[in-house]
Amino acid sequence: MMTEKQPAFVTGKRKYLFCGDHKGLERLTPIIKKVKKENISFEVVYLGEKEETDISMWMRNQKMGTFLYIAMEWSKLENFKHLAVECGFSEEEAQFIGHGVRMIDVFCCKCHQKTKIDSEGLGKLLTTCSRCHLKLSVSDHYSPLRGSYLGYATLDTGSDHR
Ligand SMILES: [Zn+2]
Repeated sequence: MMTEKQPAFVTGKRKYLFCGDHKGLERLTPIIKKVKKENISFEVVYLGEKEETDISMWMRNQKMGTFLYIAMEWSKLENFKHLAVECGFSEEEAQFIGHGVRMIDVFCCKCHQKTKIDSEGLGKLLTTCSRCHLKLSVSDHYSPLRGSYLGYATLDTGSDHR
């Protein structure tokens, strides 16, 4: 279903920045090797030990023509994506690679509350709305407007052990 995106080498940049947690940097290694081999300048930053403000300063100080890679756990990737955009990196100047469990929001058709679930459950699992406790069938319809996947009421009125 939802395959993990593999980092791809975007050529022709003046400089490359590689940021990530342990697993993330591991996945970026093939690209780091290529950049090294071609003698292009680059920096590697382990995000596990940096404060967000440090990272933001560092990103803002980069020159034009710099390409950014961020490889993080899904749960943290969004934050860093926002941060990179704030610091002036466009979608064309950055690549974001997530790993691990990806949590997604399910939008309740009844009370409009969002409930977080593991994305593995997308399209096949049932979940329960965290506010109104309605049983929801998680569809694979993503609503950009809601920023979440739509959950529909299930007809299953079977045993409910609450
Ligand atoms: Zn609800």
